[in-house]
Amino acid sequence: MSAPLPWQQGQWEKLLSRIEQGNLPHALLLTGRRGIGKQHFAQQLAELLLCSEDQPVPCGHCKGCRLTAAGTHPDLRIVTPPEDKRVISVDQIRELSNYLSLTALYGGYQVVLITPADLMNVNAANSLLKTLEEPSANTLLLLLSDRPATLPATIRSRCQVIRFEKPAQAAALEWLKEQQSELDSQIAETLLELADGAPLRAAEMASEGAIAQRTEMLDDLEKVVAGRCDPIEIAKKWLKLGKKESLYWVYGWLVDMVRMKVAAQPPYIANADVAPRLSKMAANIELSLLYKRLDQVSEALRLADNQSINAELLLEGVLIGWTPRR
Ligand SMILES: [Zn+2]
Repeated sequence: MSAPLPWQQGQWEKLLSRIEQGNLPHALLLTGRRGIGKQHFAQQLAELLLCSEDQPVPCGHCKGCRLTAAGTHPDLRIVTPPEDKRVISVDQIRELSNYLSLTALYGGYQVVLITPADLMNVNAANSLLKTLEEPSANTLLLLLSDRPATLPATIRSRCQVIRFEKPAQAAALEWLKEQQSELDSQIAETLLELADGAPLRAAEMASEGAIAQRTEMLDDLEKVVAGRCDPIEIAKKWLKLGKKESLYWVYGWLVDMVRMKVAAQPPYIANADVAPRLSKMAANIELSLLYKRLDQVSEALRLADNQSINAELLLEGVLIGWTPRR
């Protein structure tokens, strides 16, 4: 991956000109949905500041670049929750302040990544506030967050925000195909949709075997339709695979089935590789019922983000509709 990602060019150039003018802010808050490339951008910016060459992107071969890429540059700190914890603690931020009170070992910038910044607990955030209020020269703090609204306003107001919007579909697909050359175009589109337009998340899903998972789920649904499987058991299983992921797949199949029913010409089918199976299923369902199920899954997707809703019941509700009538 070269620096920066294609859809980050604008933000990158703005920062470059600020670096040239010598007025880079002390703290940046990078926001945008999961898998948009915040971490990549932050890493590249860190590498650029610690690179000894004067170029618009890190040179990749000087000592600074090599140490950054290896994760061992003494002037770069990454603060993230410890493996067994879900929060960034006040001790981690205190340790960071001590570190920042020392001068950079290589005489240039000291760069810090705090990710995900929204996992700082209240005490950690308060402690960071002091650092943000008295920034030392040649220090850059990069806070990364998918959920910036959950950060204290006092922290947000002391950072310059760089927001990454989801890239245009064509640009995202082009990048995705470059990363995963064997990926079928229609599956790439489905994955991108599933990743809510975030290309790195889509690439991650492709390598995590999301397609194999979808095929297994379709097996499950066929068994439920044939009355050979208990929908409650399947709901339990799908919950482990991910409630939203499961619902998105069912939603996608339903959309494909509706297209098959209503189109005069052979329609565009997102799950083209399993089209014959979907078509067979659709043949036994009235169009009005397909629309009803589509509404039901949309509603379930809307509710899926609500933490107080029982996700297993939500999936059961969707699956029970597919069981044969007795
Ligand atoms: Zn370099």
